Amino acid sequence: MLTPLLYDSHMHTPLCKHASGEPEDYAAVAEKRNLRGIVITCHSPHPGDNYDFRWRMSETQFDDYLALVDRASRAWAGRVDVLLGLECDYFPGHEPWLTRLLARGDFHYVLGSVHPDTEEYRAAYGDGRAKGTPYDREGALQLQRAYFGHLADAAESGLFDCLTHPDLVKNETAAEWQVERILDDIRAALDRIARTGIAMELNTSGLHKRIPEMLPGPAILAEIAARGIPMVLGSDSHDPGRVGADFERALDLLEAAGHRTVSVFRRHQRTDIPIPAARASLTPILAAAPALGHD
Ligand SMILES: [Zn+2]
Ligand SMILES: [Zn+2]
Repeated sequence: MLTPLLYDSHMHTPLCKHASGEPEDYAAVAEKRNLRGIVITCHSPHPGDNYDFRWRMSETQFDDYLALVDRASRAWAGRVDVLLGLECDYFPGHEPWLTRLLARGDFHYVLGSVHPDTEEYRAAYGDGRAKGTPYDREGALQLQRAYFGHLADAAESGLFDCLTHPDLVKNETAAEWQVERILDDIRAALDRIARTGIAMELNTSGLHKRIPEMLPGPAILAEIAARGIPMVLGSDSHDPGRVGADFERALDLLEAAGHRTVSVFRRHQRTDIPIPAARASLTPILAAAPALGHD
């Protein structure tokens, strides 16, 4: 077996109320996949405990979260590197609160995410239609433009190491998603993102969503490669069986889009790994469990 190189840098815990399995269970799958480590990145609390509270830990659980990851990290020391991370929603106005929250933990890696399906996001940036009503063309374009603008704002906030699932809005506006229609806005956002030095994620859970492709899709991956933005792999596992899921396919997609390396983070420091070496280090698994329907 070759020296493990890769991390799976996106996964959850039961504290977010829609994931199963303890961090130790995720580490056990990582060892089978010959991963060097995993980053636990559960959904962060947000101010007032009202924002999207059904899908995340409350602020009062934050210390439990730190202790949970620390416990797994100690249990697996020397075998699988279990790192403390967090998936934070970027929502305009929450930056000072998030800055204080992030100071409470010794994080290795912080994901910035924009979730266009939350009630709060829809109320602020959607066109007012009821949840579950598909967007028409105009409403979809409005939401897509807001989304990519906020991704760039998230990069410029300086709070995050990486932007996660960076075209998630396509699933919220699936009937009206045509990447060519919004490509000028995406290019402008990626120009801003590239200037900050932040990384972006290729999220393999997209294969199980409404538009069954990884996040982002191939056209955006190529635009990212053209700008030299580093890419990190994340399974976005909400159950242990998906740790490292579809990473070989993800590496193929990165290469096809023009990327030569894949990146991992530790202590907020990025290491770039040549894709062939990353691919050779993985131990194949026969089948991954299906993803849950949340991101
Ligand atoms: Zn997410
Ligand atoms: Zn989730």
